[in-house]
Amino acid sequence: MNHYHRFDCIIVGAGGSGLMAALESSRRVGTAVVSKLYPPRSHTGAAQGGIAAALANLEEDSWENHAYDTIKGGDFLVDQTAAEILCREAVEGIYELEHMGLPFDRTAAGRISQRRFGGHTRPNPKYDPNAAPGTDAAKPRIPVMRSCHSADRTGHMILQTLYQQCIKQGVTFFDEFHMVDLILEDGECRGIVAIEIATGQLHVFHAKSVLLATGGFGRIFKVSSNAYALTGDGPAIAYRHGLPLEDMEFYQFHPTGIYKLGILLSEACRGDGGIMFNKDGERFMERYAPNLKDLASRDVCSRSIYQEVRAGRGINGKDYVYLDIRAETMNKYKSSPLHPGQDVDSAWVEKRLPDIIEFARTYLGVDPIREPMPIQPTAHYAMGGLPTDVEGRVLRDVSGTPVPGLYSAGESACVSVHGANRLGTNSLVDLVVYGRRAGRAMADYAAARSFAPLPSHPETKAREQIDALLSRPRTEPWAKIRDEMQVTMMENCGVFRTEETLTKARDEIAALKARYRQLGIQDKGSVFNTNLLEVLELGNLLETAEATVAAALARRESRGAHSREDFPDRNDHDFFKHSLVYSHNENQTSVVYKDVDVIYVEKHGERVPKYPLEVRKY
Ligand SMILES: Cc1cc2nc3c(=O)[nH]c(=O)nc-3n(C[C@H](O)[C@H](O)[C@H](O)COP(=O)(O)OP(=O)(O)OC[C@H]3O[C@@H](n4cnc5c(N)ncnc54)[C@H](O)[C@@H]3O)c2cc1C
Repeated sequence: MNHYHRFDCIIVGAGGSGLMAALESSRRVGTAVVSKLYPPRSHTGAAQGGIAAALANLEEDSWENHAYDTIKGGDFLVDQTAAEILCREAVEGIYELEHMGLPFDRTAAGRISQRRFGGHTRPNPKYDPNAAPGTDAAKPRIPVMRSCHSADRTGHMILQTLYQQCIKQGVTFFDEFHMVDLILEDGECRGIVAIEIATGQLHVFHAKSVLLATGGFGRIFKVSSNAYALTGDGPAIAYRHGLPLEDMEFYQFHPTGIYKLGILLSEACRGDGGIMFNKDGERFMERYAPNLKDLASRDVCSRSIYQEVRAGRGINGKDYVYLDIRAETMNKYKSSPLHPGQDVDSAWVEKRLPDIIEFARTYLGVDPIREPMPIQPTAHYAMGGLPTDVEGRVLRDVSGTPVPGLYSAGESACVSVHGANRLGTNSLVDLVVYGRRAGRAMADYAAARSFAPLPSHPETKAREQIDALLSRPRTEPWAKIRDEMQVTMMENCGVFRTEETLTKARDEIAALKARYRQLGIQDKGSVFNTNLLEVLELGNLLETAEATVAAALARRESRGAHSREDFPDRNDHDFFKHSLVYSHNENQTSVVYKDVDVIYVEKHGERVPKYPLEVRKY
């Protein structure tokens, strides 16, 4: 073994969750970060709108409000202890980032500025249950400013800050190393195998604990806000090793992607007062979510857009609507956070949303200061992923047995704090809180034991897989398989699904997997063979697509982002449970269910749920 490395902790992924974990674990034990991208290119850097924490800098707020919103936002399929930890530890997490030097925007009083985001609320102090419907006093909850931000470049600032801290602390980085396999021996994780992209050589990383922080897999869909590198490598590799994936049927479509391109226009647009309109110039969200309107949760907004389009009210009869962030519109509807009291002007909008405005000008040729922007829902965020506990330990079954030495955090993990639908700004905070917890736990684990021996040739499986791709003659173009997968996932496993569409998607994915197994690639070289890497990534996308469809077929109800038109209601009796999908050989999958963690409290001498199930309305 020429290329052999040994570290107590190996962290795969240099996004917010991986770097947060690395900062934590490297304080105590030897830590290396392996990343297929140069770290600041990770998708965390593309996050725009903000990071949630109930700092109450501008309005009254509490972590309990945040926890309630998170649980309701997830259509109650949220593990409640995990959500409480998230919202409580969010507050110190933000101050920690501030002390590292993260340049948050400031309020006039010099505190961290906060903005509104969908589904983030507080109790209405003026609430009167007898008030006339539609009046302000009739609203039990009102939007709250909870999202801390640096203009619309929050993720960029977080990633740069964490990367600087890691460098300062002497974390070892293996940049442009692409993990191709996990080393699992005797049921425990002992390291990973990665390709060095520059040379094509395989490297073995021997570790006491490994963290998978490889991000999402939004590239399974045709219209997506996700970067090209988001191919679900961590979850897919674990799934091939027989580990389950949790809640894969819940995939979030963000309501406001640039029409056809999918590039994200942050929810901060609506948080700051932007409004969606149909072809009749109607603010249609008033009909679907009379209380929070454009600030309803993402699943609700995305479905509403589709319903408008189906009813023929898309712009020009097409499949898009408008997002309007013009100052005059905000003033007319009094929708900006400065209302009531103060009108806004274009300079205010430009200062709050500089990147979004630039994106629209560049990619759409539309100047949002003067005109509304054409938007449609775009695949955005995986609520599902590797099942973990609140210490980031990856779990192998419904009873919560951990896989010793294997951890996950960030979008590749499912803790689950997002349940059936994540609230905006809750991912970045998930990275910080659970990245740190996982880093701490994996360091504790590593500090307490010595290195377990590796199997004799841990890279053999990866070597065979790569050799097969290189030695087979070139068959069809790999991108054809990818495109067909993206189309079937978008059409048959998108915002709305039925038994029929999902069955079609399942069969098509199975056929694509069969074609994939025959693939040979064109580039047979070893230096920067991006062709090889893309084909390996496509294999991972196909696995996550398969798991997504299997879980979606099995869940015969509608909840959060999972909308079954043939089962339009939420069915708590049968499906108030997390799904776990397992892969068996070839195209066989199985789905089992595990209980949701519910917190109980004493009330009038009785044990009752702290967050009782309710009908979810906004
Ligand atoms: C456009 C956009 C805007 C967003 N805005 C917000 C927002 O305002 N607020 C919010 O809360 N959330 C937002 N999100 C969601 C949030 O940014 C992501 O969920 C989060 O950043 C994911 O972080 P991560 O650490 O899990 O992974 P990522 O940041 O995606 O990083 C993944 C890392 O894994 C590495 N990796 C992957 N596969 C391999 C492999 N095989 N071998 C080696 N390394 C590998 C990559 O190199 C990379 O370093 C946004 C997402 C997008 C796409």
